Amino acid sequence: MKAFMTRRKSLLIAASAAVALGLSACGGGSGGSSSAPPVAEKPSFAADTTMAKLASAGKITIGSKFDQPLFGQKGLDGKPVGFDVEIGKAIAGKLGIPADKIEWVETVSANREEFIKQGKVDIIVATYTITDKRKNEVDFAGPYYEAGQALMVNKDNTTITKPEDVKGKKVCSVTGSTPASTIVEKYGAVLVPAATYSACLEPLRNKQVEAITTDNVILAGFVDKEPEAFKLASDQTFTKEPYGIGLKKGDTAFRSWINDQLEAFAKDGTYKKAWEATAGKVIKTVPELPAINRY
Ligand code: GLU
Repeated sequence: MKAFMTRRKSLLIAASAAVALGLSACGGGSGGSSSAPPVAEKPSFAADTTMAKLASAGKITIGSKFDQPLFGQKGLDGKPVGFDVEIGKAIAGKLGIPADKIEWVETVSANREEFIKQGKVDIIVATYTITDKRKNEVDFAGPYYEAGQALMVNKDNTTITKPEDVKGKKVCSVTGSTPASTIVEKYGAVLVPAATYSACLEPLRNKQVEAITTDNVILAGFVDKEPEAFKLASDQTFTKEPYGIGLKKGDTAFRSWINDQLEAFAKDGTYKKAWEATAGKVIKTVPELPAINRY
Protein backbone atom coordinates (compact mmCIF):
# COMPACT_ATOMS: atom_id res chain seq x y z
CA MET A 1 0.00 0.00 0.00
CA LYS A 2 2.73 2.38 1.04
CA ALA A 3 4.70 1.50 -2.07
CA PHE A 4 1.70 2.29 -4.20
CA MET A 5 1.15 5.62 -2.50
CA THR A 6 4.65 6.49 -3.53
CA ARG A 7 3.95 5.33 -7.03
CA ARG A 8 0.69 7.23 -7.10
CA LYS A 9 2.54 10.35 -6.04
CA SER A 10 4.95 9.79 -8.90
CA LEU A 11 1.99 9.40 -11.21
CA LEU A 12 0.56 12.69 -10.02
CA ILE A 13 3.89 14.39 -10.43
CA ALA A 14 4.35 12.91 -13.88
CA ALA A 15 0.82 13.85 -14.88
CA SER A 16 1.02 17.40 -13.60
CA ALA A 17 4.45 17.86 -15.13
CA ALA A 18 3.00 16.83 -18.47
CA VAL A 19 0.18 19.34 -18.03
CA ALA A 20 2.57 22.09 -16.98
CA LEU A 21 4.71 21.50 -20.04
CA GLY A 22 1.63 21.40 -22.21
CA LEU A 23 2.50 17.85 -23.10
CA SER A 24 0.05 15.08 -23.52
CA ALA A 25 0.74 11.42 -23.14
CA CYS A 26 -1.98 10.68 -25.71
CA GLY A 27 -0.96 8.68 -28.73
CA GLY A 28 1.07 6.08 -26.92
CA GLY A 29 3.84 8.38 -25.75
CA SER A 30 4.14 6.71 -22.37
CA GLY A 31 4.60 3.12 -21.42
CA GLY A 32 5.51 2.38 -24.96
CA SER A 33 9.08 1.35 -25.64
CA SER A 34 10.89 -1.98 -25.51
CA SER A 35 13.64 -3.02 -23.14
CA ALA A 36 14.89 -5.49 -25.81
CA PRO A 37 15.54 -8.42 -23.47
CA PRO A 38 18.40 -10.71 -24.55
CA VAL A 39 17.78 -13.82 -26.67
CA ALA A 40 19.62 -16.99 -25.60
CA GLU A 41 21.80 -18.74 -28.22
CA LYS A 42 20.55 -22.32 -28.71
CA PRO A 43 19.51 -23.03 -25.10
CA SER A 44 19.12 -26.73 -24.32
CA PHE A 45 16.31 -28.34 -22.37
CA ALA A 46 15.38 -31.83 -21.24
CA ALA A 47 13.58 -33.73 -24.01
CA ASP A 48 9.78 -33.64 -24.05
CA THR A 49 9.51 -30.52 -21.93
CA THR A 50 7.42 -27.58 -23.13
CA MET A 51 10.64 -25.56 -23.09
CA ALA A 52 12.30 -28.02 -25.53
CA LYS A 53 9.24 -28.02 -27.79
CA LEU A 54 8.97 -24.23 -27.93
CA ALA A 55 12.72 -23.78 -28.37
CA SER A 56 12.86 -26.22 -31.28
CA ALA A 57 9.76 -24.69 -32.90
CA GLY A 58 11.49 -21.30 -32.59
CA LYS A 59 8.19 -19.56 -31.88
CA ILE A 60 5.72 -19.02 -29.06
CA THR A 61 2.15 -17.75 -28.78
CA ILE A 62 1.59 -15.34 -25.89
CA GLY A 63 -1.75 -14.00 -24.69
CA SER A 64 -1.80 -10.42 -23.47
CA LYS A 65 -4.07 -7.41 -23.18
CA PHE A 66 -4.25 -5.09 -26.19
CA ASP A 67 -5.95 -2.04 -24.67
CA GLN A 68 -4.25 -1.43 -21.34
CA PRO A 69 -1.66 1.34 -21.38
CA LEU A 70 1.48 0.54 -19.31
CA PHE A 71 0.98 -3.25 -19.22
CA GLY A 72 -0.30 -4.35 -22.64
CA GLN A 73 -1.45 -2.10 -25.44
CA LYS A 74 -1.35 -2.72 -29.15
CA GLY A 75 0.43 0.06 -31.00
CA LEU A 76 -0.39 1.47 -34.41
CA ASP A 77 2.24 -0.87 -35.88
CA GLY A 78 0.20 -3.82 -34.58
CA LYS A 79 2.74 -4.72 -31.90
CA PRO A 80 1.75 -4.68 -28.24
CA VAL A 81 3.84 -2.75 -25.71
CA GLY A 82 3.87 -2.69 -21.92
CA PHE A 83 5.35 -4.37 -18.86
CA ASP A 84 3.50 -7.65 -19.47
CA VAL A 85 4.74 -7.64 -23.04
CA GLU A 86 8.35 -7.14 -21.91
CA ILE A 87 8.05 -10.00 -19.42
CA GLY A 88 6.69 -12.18 -22.24
CA LYS A 89 9.57 -11.19 -24.52
CA ALA A 90 12.12 -11.90 -21.78
CA ILE A 91 10.72 -15.41 -21.26
CA ALA A 92 10.70 -16.04 -25.02
CA GLY A 93 14.30 -14.82 -25.13
CA LYS A 94 15.33 -17.44 -22.57
CA LEU A 95 13.86 -20.04 -24.94
CA GLY A 96 16.00 -18.62 -27.75
CA ILE A 97 12.93 -17.06 -29.39
CA PRO A 98 13.35 -13.45 -30.62
CA ALA A 99 10.55 -10.90 -30.23
CA ASP A 100 9.64 -11.09 -33.93
CA LYS A 101 8.85 -14.80 -33.56
CA ILE A 102 6.27 -14.20 -30.84
CA GLU A 103 2.67 -14.41 -31.93
CA TRP A 104 0.64 -12.08 -29.70
CA VAL A 105 -2.98 -13.00 -29.13
CA GLU A 106 -5.44 -10.71 -27.38
CA THR A 107 -6.76 -12.32 -24.23
CA VAL A 108 -9.51 -10.47 -22.37
CA SER A 109 -10.36 -11.14 -18.74
CA ALA A 110 -13.10 -13.67 -19.44
CA ASN A 111 -11.35 -15.92 -21.98
CA ARG A 112 -7.96 -16.51 -20.37
CA GLU A 113 -8.57 -19.90 -18.76
CA GLU A 114 -10.27 -21.19 -21.93
CA PHE A 115 -7.48 -19.96 -24.21
CA ILE A 116 -4.92 -21.80 -22.10
CA LYS A 117 -7.00 -24.97 -21.88
CA GLN A 118 -7.66 -25.00 -25.63
CA GLY A 119 -3.97 -24.46 -26.42
CA LYS A 120 -4.69 -21.17 -28.23
CA VAL A 121 -1.78 -19.67 -26.31
CA ASP A 122 1.36 -21.16 -24.73
CA ILE A 123 1.39 -18.65 -21.88
CA ILE A 124 -0.61 -15.61 -20.78
CA VAL A 125 0.94 -12.46 -19.38
CA ALA A 126 -2.08 -10.17 -19.01
CA THR A 127 -2.55 -8.48 -15.60
CA TYR A 128 -3.75 -11.94 -14.59
CA THR A 129 -4.41 -12.32 -10.86
CA ILE A 130 -3.45 -15.65 -9.31
CA THR A 131 -6.55 -17.00 -7.55
CA ASP A 132 -7.43 -20.40 -6.10
CA LYS A 133 -10.50 -20.55 -8.32
CA ARG A 134 -8.46 -20.01 -11.47
CA LYS A 135 -5.88 -22.50 -10.22
CA ASN A 136 -8.54 -25.21 -10.59
CA GLU A 137 -8.29 -24.67 -14.33
CA VAL A 138 -4.80 -23.35 -15.08
CA ASP A 139 -1.43 -23.02 -13.38
CA PHE A 140 0.45 -19.83 -12.59
CA ALA A 141 4.14 -18.99 -12.45
CA GLY A 142 4.92 -15.94 -10.36
CA PRO A 143 3.75 -13.62 -9.02
CA TYR A 144 5.87 -11.15 -10.95
CA TYR A 145 3.98 -8.04 -9.73
CA GLU A 146 1.42 -7.18 -7.09
CA ALA A 147 -1.33 -4.72 -7.98
CA GLY A 148 -4.41 -3.81 -5.95
CA GLN A 149 -7.98 -2.91 -6.81
CA ALA A 150 -8.88 0.77 -7.08
CA LEU A 151 -11.61 3.04 -8.48
CA MET A 152 -11.38 5.60 -11.27
CA VAL A 153 -13.90 8.45 -11.50
CA ASN A 154 -14.47 11.56 -13.59
CA LYS A 155 -12.17 14.43 -12.66
CA ASP A 156 -15.09 16.47 -11.23
CA ASN A 157 -16.37 13.66 -8.98
CA THR A 158 -16.35 14.48 -5.27
CA THR A 159 -18.64 11.74 -3.93
CA ILE A 160 -16.56 8.59 -4.41
CA THR A 161 -13.31 8.24 -2.48
CA LYS A 162 -13.55 4.67 -1.17
CA PRO A 163 -15.18 1.40 -2.23
CA GLU A 164 -17.96 1.78 0.37
CA ASP A 165 -19.11 4.87 -1.59
CA VAL A 166 -20.23 2.83 -4.62
CA LYS A 167 -22.95 0.88 -2.82
CA GLY A 168 -26.03 0.84 -5.10
CA LYS A 169 -24.18 2.86 -7.75
CA LYS A 170 -23.39 1.86 -11.31
CA VAL A 171 -19.78 0.81 -11.73
CA CYS A 172 -18.22 -0.50 -14.93
CA SER A 173 -15.80 -3.40 -14.82
CA VAL A 174 -14.88 -6.37 -16.94
CA THR A 175 -16.69 -9.69 -17.05
CA GLY A 176 -14.57 -12.49 -15.61
CA SER A 177 -12.26 -10.20 -13.64
CA THR A 178 -11.61 -10.34 -9.91
CA PRO A 179 -12.46 -6.62 -9.38
CA ALA A 180 -15.90 -7.08 -11.00
CA SER A 181 -16.80 -9.78 -8.45
CA THR A 182 -15.33 -7.91 -5.49
CA ILE A 183 -17.15 -4.65 -6.16
CA VAL A 184 -20.50 -6.44 -6.29
CA GLU A 185 -20.03 -9.09 -3.62
CA LYS A 186 -18.18 -7.02 -1.04
CA TYR A 187 -19.29 -3.47 -1.76
CA GLY A 188 -22.80 -3.86 -3.26
CA ALA A 189 -22.18 -1.92 -6.47
CA VAL A 190 -24.44 -2.35 -9.50
CA LEU A 191 -22.11 -3.84 -12.08
CA VAL A 192 -22.22 -2.57 -15.63
CA PRO A 193 -20.17 -5.27 -17.35
CA ALA A 194 -17.93 -4.73 -20.36
CA ALA A 195 -15.60 -7.02 -22.31
CA THR A 196 -12.56 -4.78 -21.83
CA TYR A 197 -11.61 -1.86 -19.58
CA SER A 198 -11.28 0.54 -22.51
CA ALA A 199 -14.97 -0.18 -23.22
CA CYS A 200 -15.76 1.33 -19.81
CA LEU A 201 -14.22 4.72 -20.63
CA GLU A 202 -17.08 6.23 -22.67
CA PRO A 203 -19.80 5.16 -20.20
CA LEU A 204 -17.79 6.88 -17.44
CA ARG A 205 -17.20 10.01 -19.49
CA ASN A 206 -20.92 10.16 -20.35
CA LYS A 207 -21.83 9.58 -16.69
CA GLN A 208 -23.74 6.41 -17.52
CA VAL A 209 -21.65 4.88 -14.74
CA GLU A 210 -20.13 6.63 -11.74
CA ALA A 211 -16.85 4.75 -11.62
CA ILE A 212 -14.68 2.13 -13.25
CA THR A 213 -13.01 -0.43 -11.05
CA THR A 214 -10.02 -2.64 -11.69
CA ASP A 215 -6.36 -2.81 -10.68
CA ASN A 216 -4.64 0.46 -9.73
CA VAL A 217 -1.96 0.10 -12.42
CA ILE A 218 -4.48 -0.39 -15.21
CA LEU A 219 -6.43 2.67 -14.09
CA ALA A 220 -3.19 4.65 -13.68
CA GLY A 221 -2.55 4.04 -17.39
CA PHE A 222 -5.93 5.49 -18.34
CA VAL A 223 -5.48 8.50 -16.04
CA ASP A 224 -2.05 9.11 -17.56
CA LYS A 225 -3.60 9.22 -21.03
CA GLU A 226 -6.42 11.57 -20.04
CA PRO A 227 -5.53 13.40 -16.82
CA GLU A 228 -7.99 16.17 -17.68
CA ALA A 229 -10.89 13.71 -17.80
CA PHE A 230 -10.25 11.07 -15.14
CA LYS A 231 -8.66 10.57 -11.71
CA LEU A 232 -8.16 7.75 -9.24
CA ALA A 233 -10.77 8.00 -6.48
CA SER A 234 -8.02 7.58 -3.89
CA ASP A 235 -4.42 6.47 -3.35
CA GLN A 236 -5.70 3.45 -1.47
CA THR A 237 -6.10 0.00 -2.92
CA PHE A 238 -8.53 -2.44 -1.36
CA THR A 239 -7.45 -5.89 -2.59
CA LYS A 240 -4.24 -7.68 -3.43
CA GLU A 241 -3.90 -8.71 -7.06
CA PRO A 242 -0.74 -10.78 -7.50
CA TYR A 243 -0.06 -11.13 -11.23
CA GLY A 244 0.90 -14.57 -12.49
CA ILE A 245 1.88 -16.05 -15.82
CA GLY A 246 -0.85 -18.44 -16.83
CA LEU A 247 0.02 -21.81 -18.35
CA LYS A 248 -1.47 -25.27 -18.83
CA LYS A 249 -2.48 -26.95 -15.60
CA GLY A 250 -0.12 -29.73 -14.60
CA ASP A 251 2.92 -28.51 -16.56
CA THR A 252 5.04 -28.30 -13.43
CA ALA A 253 8.39 -28.37 -15.23
CA PHE A 254 7.42 -25.35 -17.36
CA ARG A 255 5.98 -23.48 -14.36
CA SER A 256 9.07 -24.08 -12.30
CA TRP A 257 11.35 -23.07 -15.20
CA ILE A 258 9.41 -19.79 -15.68
CA ASN A 259 9.72 -19.15 -11.94
CA ASP A 260 13.50 -19.61 -12.22
CA GLN A 261 13.61 -17.11 -15.09
CA LEU A 262 11.61 -14.52 -13.14
CA GLU A 263 14.09 -14.78 -10.28
CA ALA A 264 16.96 -14.46 -12.76
CA PHE A 265 15.33 -11.34 -14.32
CA ALA A 266 15.20 -9.70 -10.88
CA LYS A 267 18.92 -10.42 -10.35
CA ASP A 268 20.29 -9.50 -13.76
CA GLY A 269 18.35 -6.25 -14.19
CA THR A 270 15.97 -7.50 -16.93
CA TYR A 271 12.99 -6.94 -14.63
CA LYS A 272 14.01 -3.37 -13.79
CA LYS A 273 14.72 -2.54 -17.44
CA ALA A 274 11.34 -3.96 -18.48
CA TRP A 275 9.62 -1.77 -15.89
CA GLU A 276 11.55 1.38 -16.75
CA ALA A 277 10.86 1.02 -20.47
CA THR A 278 7.11 0.69 -19.91
CA ALA A 279 5.01 1.25 -16.78
CA GLY A 280 7.97 2.99 -15.14
CA LYS A 281 7.51 5.95 -17.48
CA VAL A 282 4.47 6.80 -15.36
CA ILE A 283 4.91 4.83 -12.12
CA LYS A 284 8.43 5.83 -11.21
CA THR A 285 9.20 3.50 -8.31
CA VAL A 286 10.63 0.26 -9.63
CA PRO A 287 8.84 -2.62 -7.88
CA GLU A 288 10.64 -5.52 -6.23
CA LEU A 289 9.87 -8.94 -7.65
CA PRO A 290 7.43 -10.43 -5.09
CA ALA A 291 8.37 -13.76 -3.48
CA ILE A 292 7.69 -16.48 -6.03
CA ASN A 293 4.96 -18.90 -5.02
CA ARG A 294 6.27 -22.36 -5.89
CA TYR A 295 3.13 -24.20 -4.89
N1 GLU B 1 -6.08 -8.57 -12.23
C1 GLU B 1 -7.48 -8.68 -12.33
C2 GLU B 1 -7.93 -9.99 -12.95
O1 GLU B 1 -7.13 -10.77 -13.34
C3 GLU B 1 -8.07 -7.51 -13.10
C4 GLU B 1 -7.38 -7.19 -14.37
C5 GLU B 1 -7.88 -8.00 -15.53
O2 GLU B 1 -9.09 -8.20 -15.63
O3 GLU B 1 -7.02 -8.41 -16.32
O4 GLU B 1 -9.08 -10.27 -13.05
